[in-house]
Amino acid sequence: MMTSDKRKVVLVGTGMVGMSYAYALLNQNVCEELVLVDVDRRRAEGEAMDLNHGLAFSGSHMRIYAGGYEDCHDADIVAICAGVAQQSGETRLELLRRNAAVFRSIVEPVCESGFNGIFLVATNPVDVMTRITCQLSGFNARRVIGTGTALDTARLRYLLGRHFTVDPRNVHAYVIGEHGDSEFVPWSQAMLATRPISDFCADGYCDMGKIEQIEEEVRGAAQKIIEAKRATYYGIGMAMVRITRAILGDENSVLTVSTMLDEIGGVRGVFAGMPCIVNRNGVRRLLPLKLTDTEQQRLERSCQTLQAAYDSLQEGK
Ligand code: NAD
Repeated sequence: MMTSDKRKVVLVGTGMVGMSYAYALLNQNVCEELVLVDVDRRRAEGEAMDLNHGLAFSGSHMRIYAGGYEDCHDADIVAICAGVAQQSGETRLELLRRNAAVFRSIVEPVCESGFNGIFLVATNPVDVMTRITCQLSGFNARRVIGTGTALDTARLRYLLGRHFTVDPRNVHAYVIGEHGDSEFVPWSQAMLATRPISDFCADGYCDMGKIEQIEEEVRGAAQKIIEAKRATYYGIGMAMVRITRAILGDENSVLTVSTMLDEIGGVRGVFAGMPCIVNRNGVRRLLPLKLTDTEQQRLERSCQTLQAAYDSLQEGK
């Protein structure tokens, strides 16, 4: 799906998350061209200036500028981090409706530009917003990716690595389902290098109860950060860069991104976080998981929650 030799990313929404992504792209030298788009054009221009002034100190020769949707026509990735903040007294559904309107104002002009790359969505509720992007764009679902549980999975691996004093890169464990309250860890699939973590616990090396507390910690992490510093952005920005690298580098990396699922728990077409093989075409395929009955039920419940959110949005039309 690469449209040219130069790797080009258009970022829509130059707020905290968007700019953390941009800053990490610059430091990790991931693309040649980065366009910043925001409804607040001045903000995008200011951010472009600020990043450009750091170029001399980076190993990157990126071209960074504030632009418009017409710049998407030859982009490889359009990353969407735009959104409106929850107002006091506003319900989640009202917030969802307003963000859906924001996405209509973005996805339509992106598609009109002739964009033929991959959408990467971070705006919350990310699974529903990714589904909306897919619906609005009419793109093949494999080319519409949400950040899903990529960040939650990174948090899990970090905490398990710390618990076992093992490099998180040798911890293979995933958070799946909704990026939100119904997400969970299928422990039957969690490995420390070559052995299931449950085996280590059965052999007395660890306590499964303590390990499951780590799952709770992951689920509550965003809230804890928000209480301390109002928003989370560095981690998600870096998760987005990881996904961007997998796409632009045609890596076939396994990442827990939000992708469209086939029929599950009586619902069809839900987007949720699952381990997927990601390459330059987007999601090449889902990794089939051998879940236990209980895990399968949790996944079904998580997908039903997401379907209910999507349905409530449709009812309001
Ligand atoms: P922010 O308020 O700092 O930035 C939002 C930006 O979107 C602003 O610059 C605003 O001008 C822009 N915007 C609003 N409407 C627009 C429109 N119609 N067109 C173009 N731009 C528009 O918010 P933030 O802290 O950067 O968070 C952005 C989103 O990322 C939120 O939805 C947040 O919940 C989400 N988020 C997701 C994860 C994740 O794991 N997926 C993690 C953290 C935050």
